[in-house]
Amino acid sequence: MEKVRNKLAKKFAMKALFMIIFQISKSIHMSGIFRKCPFCKENAILKIIEPDFQRGVFKRTFKCKNGHEFSEEVSFDEERKWVKEVFEELTKMLY
Ligand SMILES: [Zn+2]
Repeated sequence: MEKVRNKLAKKFAMKALFMIIFQISKSIHMSGIFRKCPFCKENAILKIIEPDFQRGVFKRTFKCKNGHEFSEEVSFDEERKWVKEVFEELTKMLY
């Protein structure tokens, strides 16, 4: 029972962390936030990041201004690297 609760808490914490990182990176226009829409070639912006714990990937969903949605999957390791980059970028802005 305790194990299950810990697992849920971990999932929640990870989700919350990535939502915060996502908001920050969006406001400072970090790389990884923008893509070219494969349908109309317009700029698309990252809409949501969802962890898929069973497969060990993060699903990033992008949406362009014409409403097309497409997604890409990133491994946990790659996502961790991206979070580190966001923090480094933030540190550079602060000091
Ligand atoms: Zn589009």
